[in-house]
Amino acid sequence: ERGRLARLKHTPAVTLDGQRVELLANIEQPEDAHGALAAGAVGVGLFRSEFMFMGRQGRLPGEEEQYQAYRRAVEGMQGLPVTIRTIDVGADKPLDESRRDAAHLNPALGLRAIRWSLADPAMFLTQLRAILRAAAHGKVNMLIPMLAHASEIRHTLSLIDFARAELDNRGLAYGPVSLGAMIEIPAAALTLKIFLKYFDFLSIGTNDLIQYTLAIDRADESVAHLYDPCHPAVLRLVAETIAECQAQGKPVSVCGEMAGDVTLTRLLLGLGLRSFSMHPAQILAVKQEVLRADTGRLKAWAAQVLEAEDPGKLLG
Ligand code: PEP
Ligand code: MG
Repeated sequence: ERGRLARLKHTPAVTLDGQRVELLANIEQPEDAHGALAAGAVGVGLFRSEFMFMGRQGRLPGEEEQYQAYRRAVEGMQGLPVTIRTIDVGADKPLDESRRDAAHLNPALGLRAIRWSLADPAMFLTQLRAILRAAAHGKVNMLIPMLAHASEIRHTLSLIDFARAELDNRGLAYGPVSLGAMIEIPAAALTLKIFLKYFDFLSIGTNDLIQYTLAIDRADESVAHLYDPCHPAVLRLVAETIAECQAQGKPVSVCGEMAGDVTLTRLLLGLGLRSFSMHPAQILAVKQEVLRADTGRLKAWAAQVLEAEDPGKLLG
């Protein structure tokens, strides 16, 4: 099976009815770019930058170190686009293991991701400048995690402008970036118009979207059986996000685990998704599903799945 899949590496991901599908890689380190290319990814859809910040006893990487790391990822992808997500620490990804959010009762609902960045503008501006500078070396998209409020969006955008002004003042080169938001809090999915107004693209973070929609801690084994990607509420939020983006002509992808789950590929295609970002190890198996799919048929079937009481049972 692996040998047969390997032959698909250079095959374009196109469905039976001619729909092009973008299969991107999720990476955690700049060096993972090699694995992404080897797996046939056409870009990086999610570079989880926080891994560079973790396990350093609070001594965070400076602008130069970050710039070099982002640049290595961009150059490693040899001209293909790289989506760098700004730091997403907190909850299941504590900055420092020894301080594992002990003081907070609900760390997943606390100061994490963009909330953490906005609470420490000097740290955030350092990262923003490093990303903007890396964008001088290739196609870079910047992705912001865990946004829910319009005020957070405006605050973030003003800091990005400020970072550019700082680079201008210092005479440092930087490049253009497309700006995207993660849709991973139900409130964001339910107020999509605001996100469509401010962002160039959206990326659905199903790992957290499931957690927050179903009130299931994604890391808690005792409730793992209730962590259901196919809960009708989750599917509805995913489906409506894809549909609204399509209607507005905005690029949208899924970068949570659902994107790399071959049992869900047909459903996501049927819901209109044409961009998937996943662990590189999943790319060829998902591509095989894409090559066998007829999106015309899947569209009608997906509409039925959305209406089902137990959608997961219809996937087979
Ligand atoms: C997600 O929430 O689906 C996601 C891709 O981000 P992370 O898993 O890093 O929270
Ligand atoms: Mg997330």
